[in-house]
Amino acid sequence: MDTRELLTQLEKLEYGLDSFSFTELKSSEASRLKKSFESFKIGLEEKVFGMPAGLVESEKTTGGYDQVATESRLIANVSHEIRTPLNGIIGFLDLLKETPLSHHQNELVNAMDGASKNLLGLINQLLEFSSLASGQEKFERVPFNPGNLINEVAFLCKTLINGKNVALLVNYDERIPKNLLGDPSKLSQILLNLMGNAVKFVEEGEIQLKVNLKEEKSKRLFLEFIISDTGVGIANENLKHIFESYKQAEPSTKLKYGGSGLGLSIVKEIIEKQHGCIAVSSTLGIGTTFKVVLPFDKVVSIPAPSDPKDLEDNFDISKKAILVFEDDALTQRLMRNRLEQWGCKPYIAENEVYGLQLLKNHNIDLVLLDMHLPGSNGLEIVKRIRKNKEYANLPIIILSGDAYSHKEDVFHDLGINDFILKPYNSDELREKIYSSSQHRNREVAHTASKKEYSEARTKPIDLDLLLQECLGKTELLDELVRLFEQNILEFIGKTKMYLQSGNLQGVGFAAHKIKSCLKMLHANRLIAICEEMILECRTTNNIEHLKGLFEDFVSEYPKIEKAMEEEIRRIKHEL
Ligand code: ADP
Repeated sequence: MDTRELLTQLEKLEYGLDSFSFTELKSSEASRLKKSFESFKIGLEEKVFGMPAGLVESEKTTGGYDQVATESRLIANVSHEIRTPLNGIIGFLDLLKETPLSHHQNELVNAMDGASKNLLGLINQLLEFSSLASGQEKFERVPFNPGNLINEVAFLCKTLINGKNVALLVNYDERIPKNLLGDPSKLSQILLNLMGNAVKFVEEGEIQLKVNLKEEKSKRLFLEFIISDTGVGIANENLKHIFESYKQAEPSTKLKYGGSGLGLSIVKEIIEKQHGCIAVSSTLGIGTTFKVVLPFDKVVSIPAPSDPKDLEDNFDISKKAILVFEDDALTQRLMRNRLEQWGCKPYIAENEVYGLQLLKNHNIDLVLLDMHLPGSNGLEIVKRIRKNKEYANLPIIILSGDAYSHKEDVFHDLGINDFILKPYNSDELREKIYSSSQHRNREVAHTASKKEYSEARTKPIDLDLLLQECLGKTELLDELVRLFEQNILEFIGKTKMYLQSGNLQGVGFAAHKIKSCLKMLHANRLIAICEEMILECRTTNNIEHLKGLFEDFVSEYPKIEKAMEEEIRRIKHEL
């Protein structure tokens, strides 16, 4: 049974329980019910945890079972299941927002949008927490400019403060070297979490970020980050629990400010895994101060950043329409701000569905694509974009925080123009946008001739081999082709139904069956789509991606039908 099916069964069960009257139960019935629930629970645990049958409770607690790994796996499984449909919901809400809506409908859509994004934020936090807990989190060691990073964090905090009477002061120690080695995305995450909390808990007053060079050794140095605010503060008895998972200072905090109580435990874990430390001091009603000390390595020689004026003159990217796939709200703002400053027209999409729609509706010059969008893989999105011949030469730049995701051969095969490792500075982004756009202009003529050649070479179908199998009998070939047409129409009808009911096993099976038919026709394009559908059903189970593949199939099929008629005419004429 696959997980989706299991969840459907659980939903049915929940529905049944809701309508059931427990008050009318006799004690014998209640005890029977309890027993069957217990055996159901054990069965479910086995399915989810893959626990060997017969493992008893005592073995779990006496080290026979790794509880942390189990929790992490459960969280990762459940988060994945929830993130995929949730991203679909957010994508469709984005599309809905672009249709004419009444004032009331608009309010409702915005409320749904806010709630879905909150939920997504919580799920992402849970996922991160689980990967930290299971020790799977990787840390980078790449060169970065700490001054730029602090400016960006401060800019993002200003946008969060928006509307409140709160001043943000930044105090940066100029002795800090221009370049350091470390994990800049983790550092941004730590600071944004702490600064984000300060913004949340200060209604009026001041937030200060101080960055000091605390200690310097031959190759290493220690930076101290002090984040202080004049907000509500934390009571003394709650301070000691503040870094524990799922803990908030007051029970009322969740009601008033939201949040999961996971942020600080993640921050502490990230800091300690990098051999740093964090401390907090606070006075109720006066304010709170967090101090973080983190080690970084020095970089010996890095080329000096270019003069911004030179860049402006040499790398003119004004008036470019740029589609950005980015799910993180803060990075979205930063990106929009940068692109608008350079005179570009940014289109920001936080998920695949909305992004592909924007691409269809606007004249996009270049795509910036975050490799890891929730629920979608960046490479899959590239494949879907490239499938449309109209976008064969559209420059695509991949952005990723993971240096290992840059695989030269894969990127080359997919036609990805460039790769930027996050976090990047503005100059690098601008240069890459500029050079990828130039590349497009040069590529157009070249690839046009290449395309014509490959199209002439590969026909959409080839019936010659089938004719040989029919021993040259054209009536038999005619009959087979009609049968193929029927099979394909049946496949389209069934798959549509399976996709509607979320029966991915059915989809996989149907795709498998039709693939062997298509192979006899040498309908290579449709075979490729079917193979991708089969793979998707076996691996990630991303229903939105499957729906997209199915749409591709349906829009591609009429060409195949036409080609079949033409082939039959040609064969009959030649014989
Ligand atoms: P949450 O997602 O709930 O904000 P955190 O782990 O980030 O979770 O914070 C835990 C709790 O610590 C918060 O709910 C709040 O009660 C308290 N807290 C954190 N930072 C501050 C601050 N700057 N001022 C006051 N209280 C804070």
